[in-house]
Amino acid sequence: MGTADDSAYPATGRLAAHPTGAANEVLLQGVKIYGEGEPTDVLIRDGKIAEIGNGLSTDGETLDLDGQILLPGLVDMHVHLREPGREDTETVATGSAAAAQGGFTAVFTMANTAPVTDNPSIAETVWYKGQNTNLCDVHPVGSISKNLEGSELTEFGMMAESDAKVRMFSDDGKCVDDPRLMRRAMEYAKGMDVLLAQHGEEPRLTEGAVAHEGEQAAKLGLTGWPRVAEESIVARDAIMARDYGGRLHICHASTEGTVELLKWAKAQNIPLSAEVTPHHLLLTDERLETYDGVNRVNPPLREQRDVDALRQALIDGTVDCVATDHAPHGSEEKCCEFDKARPGMLGLETSLALIAQIFVLGGDQDWRFIARVMSERPAQITKLPGHGRPIAVGEPANLCVVDTQRSWVATGEDMASKSRNTPYEGMDMPVRISTTLLRGAVTCRDGQAVTA
Ligand SMILES: [Zn+2]
Repeated sequence: MGTADDSAYPATGRLAAHPTGAANEVLLQGVKIYGEGEPTDVLIRDGKIAEIGNGLSTDGETLDLDGQILLPGLVDMHVHLREPGREDTETVATGSAAAAQGGFTAVFTMANTAPVTDNPSIAETVWYKGQNTNLCDVHPVGSISKNLEGSELTEFGMMAESDAKVRMFSDDGKCVDDPRLMRRAMEYAKGMDVLLAQHGEEPRLTEGAVAHEGEQAAKLGLTGWPRVAEESIVARDAIMARDYGGRLHICHASTEGTVELLKWAKAQNIPLSAEVTPHHLLLTDERLETYDGVNRVNPPLREQRDVDALRQALIDGTVDCVATDHAPHGSEEKCCEFDKARPGMLGLETSLALIAQIFVLGGDQDWRFIARVMSERPAQITKLPGHGRPIAVGEPANLCVVDTQRSWVATGEDMASKSRNTPYEGMDMPVRISTTLLRGAVTCRDGQAVTA
């Protein structure tokens, strides 16, 4: 199924012009692969890792990386790039630049666009815009229900077979709360081997809710969003996945109870996976004290015991991966009364630094852990070829490099994203992405996205 003017875009998977205009070789000099061992050189040729060793040379570009850490390019299963419909807050181009600066080589952008990504032609438009921008592979997520209305299934097959090759379906932003619709979605998804990603929120329990239901919300006079609204859907869907099959993914797990349910489901070999956001691994509802709309997010920031359970779950694999839920909003949508603010936070440019701070610099995990939860697992769950691969000769050069010697201060103003709604404004970030490569092309150099 093609759009009217395919000629305006490069064919699926084919690269547009190399953004640097350099030769088809790039030499990464002096990198520590997975942060292990002595620094070595990695030569990239024709989009693949051609050689690994000491004293390599090239006629192409040489990047002197002086002991920085080489990881597989990061994969984010959950972003909102707002195109089509809200190009004033983010576009595929600005979101791709934010992704490249964050070390990402592939992202999945959710279907709650305007119009909704519920048909092949919108999915292809998003996909080709991503390929044309060529800073990151932008995979459109198709909606499960038409116009996100929760009543009628979309044509999974037509989207899956389009040029966009949609491989994940989600009504994210909304929960598929009707169990009959979810059952049918699972049966179709199983037949096509596509992934269903559920935003777990029983809407009858969250009407008017803006904050985690607990002491803090009560004190601040905010309507509470109880844990059970998430957990009841996770439990229901896990049981449905057991009986009807299909691959199920739980978006933004946010509670201790969800972790217990995931543990149970995995022990029964139910085919399900789960993600957690950086903000649910770091922030709590203590932040709401100031009524700053930047802290409003869905699901809401919870309590320390949830944060602790989610951290442990990511380490032991109960929760599979990190996903940012990067959700840009205009200032008029965030700088207002707390209960009027739109839920969502920026995430692409700060996630690697935060996850490294929590688990590696401030914890006992190594850089292999980062590679697992931010690249390998999300690529496996989405069955994404070419990403999350081992760093080895012959593998696609989808890579990122972390500079541990350069801290920086997060500020919305300096971000590549079109929006400014970062909850980490003014916070010290201990490491930064210096370099990102997409199929051997440099998409981020010296911390800056390479835009045309
Ligand atoms: Zn969501």
